Amino acid sequence: MVKCPGATCRREIVLDVPLKGADMYIEASLGKCPNEQCPLIVAKNHVAIGNQLTVAIRDHIKKYYQGWMKCEDMACGARVRKMPLMFQRGHPVCPSCNKGVLNPEYTDSMLYTQMCFYQYLFDLDRAVRQLTEKNEKEKAQQFSKDPDIKEAYTHLRRVAESWLKRSEYSEVNLDKLFEGLFAVK
Ligand SMILES: [Zn+2]
Ligand SMILES: [Zn+2]
Repeated sequence: MVKCPGATCRREIVLDVPLKGADMYIEASLGKCPNEQCPLIVAKNHVAIGNQLTVAIRDHIKKYYQGWMKCEDMACGARVRKMPLMFQRGHPVCPSCNKGVLNPEYTDSMLYTQMCFYQYLFDLDRAVRQLTEKNEKEKAQQFSKDPDIKEAYTHLRRVAESWLKRSEYSEVNLDKLFEGLFAVK
């Protein structure tokens, strides 16, 4: 999702969970760059990572507003963006095959889920709170006190939040939403 900001590295850093590993090996996902030759600590470069996050969020928003629609008929599979569309019983009909229903490729709920996911990724307090295993919790409580780690998570969570707040759904209870979406321990 992001690239290591180290000048000679640029290794892809996958950020898909707030905390990596398990048991005694649990660690912050914003720790050291996964490239063994690269000494960079991701948390210490959180401004650069935040800029990459902003670019990613803008891309998602752009994708949403581009409004591509796809014909549900597999044999046709046309992608359409042109307006106005013909409607039949409340559904836009594919102008290519004239029978398939068009579905949006990227819906508002997909955009919203993506934004919530970023917020979840960088909510360190919640991630630590949700740990139930004693060893994991103790270790996570330790490293989450590190000022670099703390500041990095807070900064990135705020970046995600600032975009989420612009959306109309910001009142939704995130904990509830995540119950089903992610395997949160
Ligand atoms: Zn690196
Ligand atoms: Zn079609």
